[in-house]
Amino acid sequence: MATNVTTLITCDLEDGKGKARPGEPVSFGIDGTALELDLCPKHRTALEEAFAPYVEHGRRVRPGSGQARQSQRARTGQAPPPVQAAAVRAWAAASGITVSPKGRIAAGLVERFEAEQQGTK
Ligand SMILES: [Zn+2]
Repeated sequence: MATNVTTLITCDLEDGKGKARPGEPVSFGIDGTALELDLCPKHRTALEEAFAPYVEHGRRVRPGSGQARQSQRARTGQAPPPVQAAAVRAWAAASGITVSPKGRIAAGLVERFEAEQQGTK
């Protein structure tokens, strides 16, 4: 005899609150943590509306970067990401330090920049 198993995915925000509406997986991330939950259309819309201003102004980050970025750069000696390179050049220019507008920035200069940034936070 064949057995048919039906899995009904319901909205995680309505679990245990009477008859939950059907949901579908929605994934998002914050502080380097990828999260997923099942949401009905109503709660999905609420999540999208809440996130909209942050998504609009956010930068896309490749998986594996983010939190591990600094320590990974220290290990591998990689060049800083473009955004930081621009910040280092701007800081160097403001500090009267000559830096080539192209190419790799000296590691020592990046370290001075980072030290100064941490000192001003
Ligand atoms: Zn819901």
